Amino acid sequence: MSEQWIYLDGEFVTKENAKVSVFDHGFLYGDGIFEGIRIYEGNIFKCDEHLERLYDSAKSIDLVIPLSFEEMREVMAETIRRNEMRNGYIRLVVSRGAGNLGLDPRRCPKPTVLVIVEQLAIYSEEAYLKGLRAVSVSQRRNLPDALNPKIKSLNYLNNILVKIQSNLAEADEAIMLNAQGYVTEGSGDNIFLVKKGVVYTPPCYLGALEGITRLAIIELCEKLGYKLKEEPFTMHDVYIADEVFFTGTAAEVIAAREIDGRVIGEGHAGPITLKLLEEFRKAVTQDGYKVWEA
Ligand code: PMP
Repeated sequence: MSEQWIYLDGEFVTKENAKVSVFDHGFLYGDGIFEGIRIYEGNIFKCDEHLERLYDSAKSIDLVIPLSFEEMREVMAETIRRNEMRNGYIRLVVSRGAGNLGLDPRRCPKPTVLVIVEQLAIYSEEAYLKGLRAVSVSQRRNLPDALNPKIKSLNYLNNILVKIQSNLAEADEAIMLNAQGYVTEGSGDNIFLVKKGVVYTPPCYLGALEGITRLAIIELCEKLGYKLKEEPFTMHDVYIADEVFFTGTAAEVIAAREIDGRVIGEGHAGPITLKLLEEFRKAVTQDGYKVWEA
């Protein structure tokens, strides 16, 4: 990429000129929402599902995005074209906009909208075979009736505190529980386990983002004939699972080989995890919105 072009409030500007006010409530209070999306071989994977989640998050925090769904899709496509990007990561951000130092959103007349596209630094291919080391952390997931984790808000401090805990334990990923001790998700990924050929994932009402990759994996389980159950489970179920894996836009589908010092299954990515990864990687170039023809 020669020059990196960023969409900011109706214009395309260079990285150096992409500046947002210090009075923006996204910066001052984490008041806003975002999406992380990937483009694979010119195809924005599950483009409309990501946009739907963006608009749902906006509605939930009573923020009106000043662009229609179709305009937002076109802005995203145009940012990709300007950056001549075929494979990469897309970040959409809509914040409450600039206001005063008070937290009242009524003081913010105009939301800030920006789109950044970038190359992605992801796990090595070896990591997909070996799996990650994960730890459960003491920090609980935000309570759904305080700040619902289904909202993909700019307020990620809950996840960051969890990441700090897993960093201190020198782990690759964290597992967050809710206040009742049920497993919810990773710091930035959804979680699945496999036991006796059945695939399990926690229902999102326990306190998880409705991940688009999670949704894709649920669809693939159906297609491949794996039995899938959305039901609550605890760390005990995680320790005794045959396979555990995380899903997310950046991570795709990645196994855990060790969790809280327990070896998971055979201690590397298991057959169902790898099959789902293989099928997922076939779907990502097909299912979505094509910016560039193959
Ligand atoms: N949970 C959290 C907290 C996340 O931030 C993310 C996105 N990185 C996910 C789950 C996975 O969601 P998706 O598959 O839509 O990327």
